[in-house]
Amino acid sequence: MNIHEYQGKEVLRKYGVAVPNGKVAYSVEEAVEAAKELGSAVTVVKAQIHAGGRGKAGGVKVAKNLDEVRTYANEILGKVLVTHQTGPEGKQVKRLLIEEGCDIKKEYYIGLVLDRATSSVVMMGSEEGGTEIEEVAEKTPEKIFKEVIDPAIGLQAFQARRLAFNINIPKELVNKAAKFMMSLYTAFVEKDCSIAEINPLVVTGDGNVMALDAKLNFDSNALYRQKDIVAYRDLEEEDAKEIEASKYDLSYIALDGNIGCMVNGAGLAMATMDIIKHYSGDPANFLDVGGGATAEKVTEAFKIILSDKKVKGIFVNIFGGIMKCDVIATGVVEATKQVGLDLPLVVRLEGTNVELGKKILKESGLNITSADSMADGAEKIVALVK
Ligand code: ADP
Ligand code: MG
Repeated sequence: MNIHEYQGKEVLRKYGVAVPNGKVAYSVEEAVEAAKELGSAVTVVKAQIHAGGRGKAGGVKVAKNLDEVRTYANEILGKVLVTHQTGPEGKQVKRLLIEEGCDIKKEYYIGLVLDRATSSVVMMGSEEGGTEIEEVAEKTPEKIFKEVIDPAIGLQAFQARRLAFNINIPKELVNKAAKFMMSLYTAFVEKDCSIAEINPLVVTGDGNVMALDAKLNFDSNALYRQKDIVAYRDLEEEDAKEIEASKYDLSYIALDGNIGCMVNGAGLAMATMDIIKHYSGDPANFLDVGGGATAEKVTEAFKIILSDKKVKGIFVNIFGGIMKCDVIATGVVEATKQVGLDLPLVVRLEGTNVELGKKILKESGLNITSADSMADGAEKIVALVK
């Protein structure tokens, strides 16, 4: 799960990680009011969306007085920001962070991730702050330093200091930077983060070390014990179809293509997407209805696929093991009764109760193209949407 920058900073502040003072604002008036209360000489107006790269896209502006705060808040609120992380459709800004302007001497990068190779949390640092770390990794990988953290004893002070030295934090501030890193690590572990990225971490003119940006992601399997984090969830930042799917406990991920897929089993779902691609088609979603899905669940899944305006055809690819083919067939028929179907539909059923499933589909009177194999089905649906 993803949260906004201002929320991430709230979490970090509780752990003693230094962040600038700031306030969230939902309107221009609130933005001006927040700037007044902060009372800093310089105020930064920052778009709050679940994506980075806002600065370059015009979503971060430095205001020198309240009039400028008003102007920038007006300009950014409601604007659709297109950054390298939003996709071409962009994201509309509905919240602002009004923050104290910071006297930046230099920008650095600090990130915590789970490293599968070492099965450990790794802290990464670089003196190339403010730019994307992927770019640094590609062009100047020697400027990224890593500390692998032993989960039994946590990040050690000497590791934090070594990282601070490696990324050339000024000597007199190494201890402050190390303390920052230790607190960040504690927050990461205690809040069940999967990513904590501070880009930039800055050294300021008055000798402070603080986080100017904060991107925290959380392990959704741990949310049951992170109620305060769940409260930060912003549904407007999430895909409506994915929210609907989560209500029915369906694994659904929206994609950019035009072939809706209904599949059971994550492996089969991945393979189905691959084979559609193989025949030069583009899947509109990943959807695993799971093993023990009921007809009701299948109906909802089918309705979610149909609600996607990009979908031009549907491929149902089911291997009935635990899942029975007649349950899938009933769900498909039920959903089309409720919302109608004027798109091509290709169905490949195999396994438990396959004959019964085929009979239900046949007797429904729906215009269905049946397929003998996965490849046959993929080829047919790709041809039909063209
Ligand atoms: P993004 O990564 O989405 O572009 P950031 O929060 O990193 O957004 O902001 C982009 C840049 O704006 C930062 O690298 C920094 O130079 C500047 N900036 C952000 N917040 C402040 C602040 N409070 N004071 C001064 N400059 C800031
Ligand atoms: Mg940033």
